[in-house]
Amino acid sequence: MTLNFNENRYNEMIYRKCGRSGIHLPLISLGLWHNFGDVDDFENAKSMIFKSFDLGITHFDLANNYGPSPGSAERNFGKILKEDLYNHRDELIISTKVGYLMWDGPYGEWGSRKHMIASLDQSLKRLQLDYVDVFYHHRPDPDTPLEETMMTLDHIVRQGKALYVGLSNYDHIQTEKAVKILNELGTPILIHQPKYNMFTRWIESDLLSVLEDKGIGCISFSPLAQGMLTDKYINGIPADSRAANKHGFLQPEAITKSAVAKIKKLNKVAQERDQTLAQLALVWNLRNKGMTSVLIGARSVRQIEENINSINNLEISEEELKTIDEILSE
Ligand code: NDP
Repeated sequence: MTLNFNENRYNEMIYRKCGRSGIHLPLISLGLWHNFGDVDDFENAKSMIFKSFDLGITHFDLANNYGPSPGSAERNFGKILKEDLYNHRDELIISTKVGYLMWDGPYGEWGSRKHMIASLDQSLKRLQLDYVDVFYHHRPDPDTPLEETMMTLDHIVRQGKALYVGLSNYDHIQTEKAVKILNELGTPILIHQPKYNMFTRWIESDLLSVLEDKGIGCISFSPLAQGMLTDKYINGIPADSRAANKHGFLQPEAITKSAVAKIKKLNKVAQERDQTLAQLALVWNLRNKGMTSVLIGARSVRQIEENINSINNLEISEEELKTIDEILSE
């Protein structure tokens, strides 16, 4: 099918340079961890991809295990891409990852050369692609020499199966070691993908400065704390929420009284800015100059539209930041 997308989409979105690389990413990127698997509505998944692209999102993030079932998000995305977006392939940055459990036996997860190469080959088949733009090691492997994992990433780039490499969930010490090996091999790392939001701020103390120093981009995952940093849980757990979904990763126990008290106060700060809490949470995340993009998840086109509107008011004052810090430290 030939689709007509908004011709002005690249003027309406804002793109930030990814570290010191030649790549620019949209301030908002879309992740396919939830709502794109076999258990989900395919037509809704398709609408969300089309709407994102129409609004200037050029970056879609996957992993071998996204679903459920594991692999089905890649399969569904591959189908959408092939049937409706193939003419736009060169306008897209598509990432996938390796590291979490995919098959039985000693080679089904982590960071060995054996696992990583087999997993990427499987991902490419599901995605119906010859290469991905970014291939991440999804989590550090305590049992495989870092040299083996990094040499495999380098090898994959040289084979042309990935254009760039990324690391996810590596702390700053692991990152520095990995960067050194990759630089020596001649395949510099493009981007790091850590969890970062108002409730999880570990990267502020050291990772962000390491990434800036080395010229590596950063894309934060779960910038809305899986939906907690929105107005959705203020009056309990609604049926159409990740916390109520049996396939959802957000445990209802995480929505404590103290978290809800903070969410209510943060919601007021957002309202005073004429934004929703979701929008404020994204603006707050992007206040870091080294944050190339925020990687949102979504269950509907409406959520994507709301979240993208955050880029229309990116200014955040020192006073607002102070108020947010005070609320978060209560
Ligand atoms: P978010 O923190 O953005 O949470 C997304 C969820 O929040 C949505 O699915 C929706 O859930 C809810 N939501 C989104 N917008 C709104 C809104 N405007 N109003 C109300 N609720 C809203 O991100 P995710 O946790 O989904 O992570 C994003 C991506 O990051 C993933 O898809 C994946 O690509 C990546 N990721 C990477 C990891 C890694 O280890 N590298 C780990 C986890 C994620 P609901 O169903 O409740 O409506």
